[in-house]
Amino acid sequence: MAFVFLRPLLLIMENKPIAGRLKLLAQLMELHEQNSFKIRSVANAAFKIDKLPYKLSGKTPEEITQIDGIGKSLAAYIKELLETGSIKDLEDLLQATPEGVIEMLHIKGIGPKKVAIIWRDLGIENTGELYYACNENRLVEAKGFGIKTQEEIKRVLEFRMASNGKFLYAQAKHEADELMVMLKGMFPGALIEFAGDYRRCCEVISELSIVIGSRDPELVLNDLETSTLLNKTTVKDCHVNGETANGLLVDLIVTEKRFFYRDLFTYTGSEDHVSAVNERINDLVDQPEGEEFIYKKASLPWMPPELREGITFINKVEANNLPDLIDFYDLKGALHNHSTWSDGINTLEEMALYCRDEMKLTYLGICDHSKSAVYAKGLSTERVLQQHEEIDHLNKKITDFHIFKGIESDILGDGSLDYPNEILERFDFIVASIHSNIKMDKDKATSRIIKAVENPYTTILGHPTGRLLLSRKGYEIDYQKVIDACAANNVAIEINANPFRLDLDWRWCQYAIEKGVMLSINPDAHRLEGFHDMAYGILAARKGGVTKENCLNALDLQHLREIFLHKKANQPVKR
Ligand SMILES: [Zn+2]
Ligand SMILES: [Zn+2]
Repeated sequence: MAFVFLRPLLLIMENKPIAGRLKLLAQLMELHEQNSFKIRSVANAAFKIDKLPYKLSGKTPEEITQIDGIGKSLAAYIKELLETGSIKDLEDLLQATPEGVIEMLHIKGIGPKKVAIIWRDLGIENTGELYYACNENRLVEAKGFGIKTQEEIKRVLEFRMASNGKFLYAQAKHEADELMVMLKGMFPGALIEFAGDYRRCCEVISELSIVIGSRDPELVLNDLETSTLLNKTTVKDCHVNGETANGLLVDLIVTEKRFFYRDLFTYTGSEDHVSAVNERINDLVDQPEGEEFIYKKASLPWMPPELREGITFINKVEANNLPDLIDFYDLKGALHNHSTWSDGINTLEEMALYCRDEMKLTYLGICDHSKSAVYAKGLSTERVLQQHEEIDHLNKKITDFHIFKGIESDILGDGSLDYPNEILERFDFIVASIHSNIKMDKDKATSRIIKAVENPYTTILGHPTGRLLLSRKGYEIDYQKVIDACAANNVAIEINANPFRLDLDWRWCQYAIEKGVMLSINPDAHRLEGFHDMAYGILAARKGGVTKENCLNALDLQHLREIFLHKKANQPVKR
């Protein structure tokens, strides 16, 4: 036995990974609030091992025990690691911790104590949710955090997200606009336009395509190749590829001016769209004077880039049904927003005045969180009544504007809403959303939502899948069944305009419209600037072929009031 014990340990492992495993062990022990003395000794050992001038893996366990600051129990961990490749205590803690929470431990600036609060108190389980929570201002209130820590975390997370190569449309927009200005400055005589998924206003951008039409493409290629416009620039045929400082991939397509519109068309539509249009063209359109010319040759009207996905809308044109897409200026109000009553940054009055004076809207729906959303200071029954008093007061004070009394009611686990009927009936309208227990299978999610949609008090189904683009998949739902239920119960569906959500997905808008379901493009604003997110909601709606007639908050004030009253008339008889 003694002989075995004296043998050098089996695995050859550098000190760094050993220290790394122990450091993670200490972090997880702290996260799970274990004995603080033990945590300190594991953390100290990790630090020591990282700095040792010799390799641990050649030593016998007894030699390791002798090292200053390691001791018996730590030596046992190291022995276990070098013999088996793992440490059981560490494996157990990893098992008990969601993957996304472990990832948070690697974020600079937040230690295990803060991660524990984020996970346990705020119910956040991955970095995507954490980023969204920063946007919703949820960290400010948590113990040991403040606006500064929140902003710092947000900044670090932004950097991490950008480094994985995919960008939200809203994130890419800034880079795209800047690049366009620079290109136009470099080539003042050229025709330059966005193409690809960015021009189609896709929700996630993996590469920014730009077509450049010049009389001298060789010169443009040469200028681009030698410029510092992009990082990691390569040139192949007519393509200049590279990336922006933040890591957005860029494809610049350089062509002769006379082929510009042909190439712009080709590089804008999805593949099946482009080939479907090309198949309808008999004679060659080599040098079109505009995209209209190409569509005309295919016996089609010019199609907005947003609609150039697949052939859905080509078929609609044939039936003379190309929708007249909604515009930002068609919106008359913003429903579903938060104020300081729950987790918003601005007061109700500030929100209302901003809507009227800056956004030129005529109404605001205020939908603070309901009582079960404790993390977001959800309103108790008493506070609901107090808020209604304030709204009545503001509606007298603020002219040419109206605030609707709404609530974003949590859809509880069993699908019911968050207040008794005698409170629910006091609201002008209700947005029903899921925020808790979001880990559920498709059947459970679908039936939970349908139960809420069938509730006579529900007016709008909020962010139907709970997704956060590039961060959280959201629960799966049976879209068809949910939309059918909304149609049957006269419930509108939200297109949540936050660039992370854009939920309802635009791919389901046409089905909803065919079923007669209204859509509501809501900013879910938690601060004044949040209202501008409606622009992203409009882009998503346009991709779905939504017209202003399909949109609840494109209705004027009087019409919307009637719709809300009509819905209320079908609610159970009051006591
Ligand atoms: Zn919500
Ligand atoms: Zn909300």
